[in-house]
Amino acid sequence: MLANLEKLDTILDELKPYNAVLVAVSKKKPAAAITIAYNHGQRDFGENYVQELLNKRTGLPGDIRWHFIGHLQSNKVKQIAPFVNLIHGIDSPELASEVNRHSTTNNRTIEVLLQVHISGEETKFGFSPHEVMKLMDDLISIPYTGITIRGLMGMASFTDDLNQVRNEFKSLKKLYDSIRGESVSGITADFNILSMGMTNDYKIALEEGSNMVRIGSAIFGDRGK
Ligand SMILES: *Cc1c(COP(=O)(O)O)cnc(C)c1O
Repeated sequence: MLANLEKLDTILDELKPYNAVLVAVSKKKPAAAITIAYNHGQRDFGENYVQELLNKRTGLPGDIRWHFIGHLQSNKVKQIAPFVNLIHGIDSPELASEVNRHSTTNNRTIEVLLQVHISGEETKFGFSPHEVMKLMDDLISIPYTGITIRGLMGMASFTDDLNQVRNEFKSLKKLYDSIRGESVSGITADFNILSMGMTNDYKIALEEGSNMVRIGSAIFGDRGK
């Protein structure tokens, strides 16, 4: 089975009370799986690898909204800049600047989320809350006209300790609220996306204020190692 449409519908029902958007994460899954979900009405899809995204996108409908959710290398921005809808993983000022440069050459404004390091794990990419605040300041002093910062993205620790997961989501929501509360010109108007929650923790994420979840294996099955 390429896509579990029953599960997809269940998730969509669960998201409704929260007005949350589902990004169906199709990484490592064939284009045929995307087509099945697309024919069922799903339009937002998330991918982690640039080459895989480019390969799959060929031949798929043009109205798919592509979310780049993986770690993005600066030298690959150019390849997705013409079409990507939302880049979730902006994790350095250099990457923000590179996306800004390529969006300008493509005559676009690219929407991005700043990835925040909320888990205690060492391996996750992202800014610390302090760095996010500093970056926001920098973005005001060096206006990046090619990007719109739509919000924040975070991943909780990979752990069975659901209390810890909840606390990590809470901390990201708090940061998100404090940035929104600052009424910084050019930022708060569109700063309204909080991307948190995956297959194993999206219910907790929703309870803690997420309005965009990124769900892969629940819909498309396990990816294996
Ligand atoms: C793979 C991935 C997901 C989806 O994970 P599932 O556990 O399959 O739902 C969500 N977000 C990011 C950043 C990912 O890399």
